Amino acid sequence: MRIKFWGVRGSTPTPQPENLRYGGNTSCVEVRLGDSVFIFDCGTGFRSLGQQLRHEFNSRTVSAHIFVSHFHWDHIQGIPFFGPLYDKPENRFIFHSSSRTRSLKRVMEEQMASPYFPVDLNEMKAKREFHELDEGRVSLDDVTVQAAWLNHPQGCMGFRLESKQGVVVYATDNEVELEPSRPESDGQAKLRIARPALVKFVRNADLLIADGQYTDTEYTSKQGWGHTSCLTAVDLAVQAGAKHLAIFHHDPAHADSFVDEIIENCRRRIKSFDSELIVFAAREGMELEV
Ligand SMILES: [Zn+2]
Ligand SMILES: [Zn+2]
Repeated sequence: MRIKFWGVRGSTPTPQPENLRYGGNTSCVEVRLGDSVFIFDCGTGFRSLGQQLRHEFNSRTVSAHIFVSHFHWDHIQGIPFFGPLYDKPENRFIFHSSSRTRSLKRVMEEQMASPYFPVDLNEMKAKREFHELDEGRVSLDDVTVQAAWLNHPQGCMGFRLESKQGVVVYATDNEVELEPSRPESDGQAKLRIARPALVKFVRNADLLIADGQYTDTEYTSKQGWGHTSCLTAVDLAVQAGAKHLAIFHHDPAHADSFVDEIIENCRRRIKSFDSELIVFAAREGMELEV
């Protein structure tokens, strides 16, 4: 199973020189099992993935399962720019999302309506299917995908993909904290306990892709915004027994050097727990094998 990050930035694209090492495109992750393509979120990184698929599949048809966590801009903005949706009627894209707030079909229609976008939705020739998702499991090709509600304003779903090769959990836009985390006064790290249902959802993942947008200090003024301190993301991964943690949804204000510092702090915390968890910052273009 191959995982590739196409967009790792949170909230809005940030094409500035100081953050191009980790990347400025918003959320999009591809998981590949043989010829099966699974995509998590359609931020601006989705456009680059479309270019790659066009190039790779050339005259062959492209088909993919696309899971959309929620409809905030940074998770849907790439849809009108995804080339394979326009190319040919044989291309087939199966979208999975919850319509608790709105159906994705309607979101796409509204997103491309005048005066927001100049191309009519009917120009998309590919077959589009929309599957309703709620908490539970779906079996697709050789994998099962479990969906769960996360803690985020207006709702957001996380996805747990299980295959024979391993387990990948995509859980971004998620405020893990049950209560404000307090700085540890005696300098001794104390594991922050996450919701049991969330821990179970992440349990024994080979790779957890998790929201770690803030530092502890930033989080104190941003409670209720639906994102997590990177150190709390570490604690979630540790208590769930995840093997690798990709800190994801980097804050638009965080330059590359600051993200490096965040990861150093995460490593120190892991060491203090005597855990074998491996943590790194998700980077645009990064590929992993599970
Ligand atoms: Zn987001
Ligand atoms: Zn969001």
